[in-house]
Amino acid sequence: MTLFEKIIARQIPADIVHEDDHCIAFRDISPQAPVHILVVPKKPIPRIGEAGPEDQVLLGHLMIAVGKVAKNEGLSESGFRVVMNHGLHGGETVPHLHIHVLGGRSLEWPPG
Ligand code: AMP
Repeated sequence: MTLFEKIIARQIPADIVHEDDHCIAFRDISPQAPVHILVVPKKPIPRIGEAGPEDQVLLGHLMIAVGKVAKNEGLSESGFRVVMNHGLHGGETVPHLHIHVLGGRSLEWPPG
């Protein structure tokens, strides 16, 4: 069971801001911006490069959830960043697909 499956199962506490049949969103335990939320599918796809054609609808659902979460956090006008980390060079640490939603301050580009 992945760490995020344990959060979904309420075995580990999290500050949950959104949940529906297909995904959950909660605040990152180590926030890198004033708003830092992870949007996570309930299906434990390890990482984006391992999603398949069968995940097409789910991935779209996650992106719509990202928009809802950002709007609820008041980020629509000020802006926000959406990040997915795949593997070592991407900086992935939890092998359960998740989308970072970062906002509440101006973010630099390119990332480090
Ligand atoms: P990544 O490095 O892209 O795999 O992102 C994993 C994220 O999960 C990191 O930003 C961590 O801070 C976050 N994280 C790890 N454990 C928890 C937890 N128990 N609750 C919330 N976020 C977590």
